[in-house]
Amino acid sequence: MSERDDVLADLLAHGRFLGGLSSLGVRPPEAPGLPATVAAPAPDRADDSAAALAAVREEMGDCRRCRLASGRRTIVFGQGNPRAEIMFVGEAPGADEDEQGLAFVGRAGQLLTDIIEKGMRLPRSEVFIANVIKCRPPQNRNPEPDEILACQPFLDAQIRAIRPRVLVGLGKFGAQWLLRTAEPISRLRGRLGEREGIPVMPTYHPAYLLRNPAGKKDVWEDMKAVLRLLGRRVPGEAD
Ligand code: SF4
Repeated sequence: MSERDDVLADLLAHGRFLGGLSSLGVRPPEAPGLPATVAAPAPDRADDSAAALAAVREEMGDCRRCRLASGRRTIVFGQGNPRAEIMFVGEAPGADEDEQGLAFVGRAGQLLTDIIEKGMRLPRSEVFIANVIKCRPPQNRNPEPDEILACQPFLDAQIRAIRPRVLVGLGKFGAQWLLRTAEPISRLRGRLGEREGIPVMPTYHPAYLLRNPAGKKDVWEDMKAVLRLLGRRVPGEAD
C-alpha cells in the first residue's frame, strides 16, 4: 500500500469512527450572517458559467503580468465543472502541474482526488479546482505578495464565473487569500468564513497531509462540514 493509500485509509477509518458519534453535529457558521446550509442555485439561473470562465482564460492569454511567467512551462488555469457547487483553491502549480497544465495532478493532487472521490463520494469532475497562483514558482518556493496581487484578478473572476456554493481553501495560501487574512492556517482551519457571501472552509493542504498524516482527521471533519452545508449525505453517517 502506498503512502497515499495509507493516508486515505486512515482518513476514511477515522471518518467512519467519527460518523457514529452523535456529538459531532454540523459546525455552526462562525462568520456572521452565514446559514447552516447554503441554498442551491435557482433552476432558471442563466448558465453562462462556462462562457464566463472561457472569457477569463482568454483575458489571461499568455500572461506575463508577474515574474513567474519567465520560468513556467504552462499556465495552470484550473479545471473542473464550470457550475461546480464546491470549488477548491490551492496555492500554486508544482512540477507535475506545470508539465501537464492541470491543477493538482501530482502526489498531493492524487490525495485530493481520493478525498473527493473516495471520502466525499463525489466525482472529481463535479468540483472545480484552481490555485491562487497560475504559474509555477521556481523550486516550488512560496508565492511572493506582488505575484499574488498580480494574479488575483483571475481567481476572483473564476469565482464570479463559477459562483460555487462553497469554497474550500487548501493550506495557508488558499485559505488566507480567500479569507483576506494573515492568520496562520493552524488557527483558520475548520472555522467557516466567507468571501463575497460564499462560505469558505479553510483546511489543510493535501501536501501537508502527506507529510503530517495526523492532520487527516481534521480535513475529514472539514469535508463533512462542507457536505452538510450543501445538504448532501455524509458518508458513514445515517441519512
Ligand atoms: S502567475 Fe498569474 S499573474 Fe503571474 S504570469 Fe502567471 S498567470 Fe500571470
